[in-house]
Amino acid sequence: MSYKSGRHFLQIPGPTNVPGRILRAMDRPTMDHRGPAFAEMTKEVLSGLKGIFRTEQPVVIYPASGTGAWEAALVNALSPGDRVLMFETGQFATLWQRVAERLGFDAELVPGDWRSGVKPEEVEARLADDGGHAIKAVCAVHNETSTGVTSNIKAIRKAMDRAGGKTGHPALLMVDTISSLASIDYRHDDWGVDVTVAGSQKGLMLPPGLSFNAISEKALKAAETSGFRQSYWRWDDMLEANENGFFPYTPATNLLYGLKESLGMLNEEGLDNVFARHDRLAEATRLAVSAWGLEVLCRNPAEYSSSLTAVLMPDGLDADEFRKLVLERFDMSLGNGLGKIAGKVFRMRHRAASNELLMAGTLFCVEKVLSPFRANSAQVPGAGPFVSA
Ligand SMILES: *Cc1c(COP(=O)(O)O)cnc(C)c1O
Repeated sequence: MSYKSGRHFLQIPGPTNVPGRILRAMDRPTMDHRGPAFAEMTKEVLSGLKGIFRTEQPVVIYPASGTGAWEAALVNALSPGDRVLMFETGQFATLWQRVAERLGFDAELVPGDWRSGVKPEEVEARLADDGGHAIKAVCAVHNETSTGVTSNIKAIRKAMDRAGGKTGHPALLMVDTISSLASIDYRHDDWGVDVTVAGSQKGLMLPPGLSFNAISEKALKAAETSGFRQSYWRWDDMLEANENGFFPYTPATNLLYGLKESLGMLNEEGLDNVFARHDRLAEATRLAVSAWGLEVLCRNPAEYSSSLTAVLMPDGLDADEFRKLVLERFDMSLGNGLGKIAGKVFRMRHRAASNELLMAGTLFCVEKVLSPFRANSAQVPGAGPFVSA
């Protein structure tokens, strides 16, 4: 590949473009991870993370991708053979279910249409039918990155509480926030989530390589009687070492430098301002999609994601061919369709290190590459149906 002038536009949902401030923060010698300066940094980072998860309860950091943190949540708090209820909101929910199945869970994936979020009434009905409390956990993906649909976690919690009579159904609530943490409003404590799973390479603007579990009191209690044989993912070892600012094994030191910087940036802007920025850019994107005569994959406006938008390609146009043209012409990467919507959608990111001009550039580029496919390409953008390539 020949040299391309200027910056590559990384507009895939994640990993996101890493800001210069974070790159510079990581570009430092690796320090002694058993020394006092490291312990101080760990404590600062762990306390900062609690603010992002909006929790007073423990958060642990793994040197792993988000998939590792999925596994950690399941094997710490549950036992082999436990029934878990999952919801097919898209590719990531499907993959989480596969992890659970491989680990020996009785993991039911409630079918979905890949255009909607988890339905709280469905959660309530399933749990109300489970008088014997066989279901040990409800697992939901907060922001389904494959579809651009955000589920209402607060309503799911309420549905679980209603389903079990006076004391609520005792199942744990586990939520994947890998593409929503620090992107969309999320409240681990207020919403009564037991284990929140997150990762570094999306809203936190870091490279891939770190993932997180935020853990409720109830989940910690459940972990005491877990029947799983486990080692690397153990919460108890991690929490004991974290107490003094250390890890049970070598942590990803330089990524932690980056995390410290990221937390500083999010706090300087203010989380609520970050969310408002993403809401604004997402709204602008949907207006553009509608002006192009295209359809957003998410069906229900209340579930529109402010993290990313998935756009349905018109009949006869292949999304991957389109993305290839975008990359060749403008050096911009768009997200592809995953799983059963491969080739049918492309995805644009709004979150993380984004602003008006970045979004405007993204939308300009999509519009420009789409325009020759119009029946009447003289009219750009707008009237006239799309014609196949
Ligand atoms: C990116 C993503 C994952 C996968 O995380 P990895 O870091 O690739 O293991 C899981 N769930 C959601 C919602 C995601 O966006």
